[in-house]
Amino acid sequence: MPWLPGDYLRNQRKPNWCPGCGNYAILVALRQALCDQQIDPASVVIVGGIGCGANLPYWMDTYGLIALHGRAIPTAAGVKLANPKLHVIVIAGDGDTYGIGLGHFLHAIRSDVNITLLVCNNGVYGLTKGQASPTAKKGQVTSSTPRGLLYDPLNPLALAITAGCRFVARGYAGNADQLADLMKQALNFNGLAYIDILQPCVKYNKNFGYQYYQDRVVDLQKIAHPVQNRAKAWEVALGAEDKIPTGIFFLESK
Ligand code: SF4
Repeated sequence: MPWLPGDYLRNQRKPNWCPGCGNYAILVALRQALCDQQIDPASVVIVGGIGCGANLPYWMDTYGLIALHGRAIPTAAGVKLANPKLHVIVIAGDGDTYGIGLGHFLHAIRSDVNITLLVCNNGVYGLTKGQASPTAKKGQVTSSTPRGLLYDPLNPLALAITAGCRFVARGYAGNADQLADLMKQALNFNGLAYIDILQPCVKYNKNFGYQYYQDRVVDLQKIAHPVQNRAKAWEVALGAEDKIPTGIFFLESK
């Protein structure tokens, strides 16, 4: 009997995210991607970090666990090494992955461990009331930067491409269909598949909400971007802020 999207749904509890949070679309897209691939929920382990989006395993009827802050990636790598038949997915925030977990991010790319890495990127630490994260914009006013952030943001996609990641993509929570498609490709990829997901935090990062992204996102797969060209991917990742590319930046099969 085929799996349906509802078979991945844990009915006992409802997500406690703020109304309008981008995490809802990520949850829907992940269920859709798993269903489209007809992946048995009992073969899926979702490892969350610490953060709003990282609570997603609570609402999936798969296996799941919550790791320490910044340690979701090595925890997931351990699960995969213990049982390579499992589909192992990490869901963690930008603060978690690009802050305290940055070393694990780079070394997981280096070891090319066969997991799917989903990063909910909203530019703040939403769970702890909106402090600036490593991807917060220069000048951004947050609870920890009341006079505006002094630094430029980290560019995680350029970093991943430079570090040798073979599957680098960016999704957007305002486009769940595209996101589900990226997740499907990531689930089929043999190696570390990384998707940075623009996930509006409607509570603590109101200046970078849906309208901000809606006016800027561009789908790379609609403008004939050469996904196997690392230099081009890097150029796109470092491009101007007025256009925000989404889709597959770089893909290298082995
Ligand atoms: Fe979502 Fe932000 Fe609310 Fe957290 S604080 S649930 S990231 S909108």
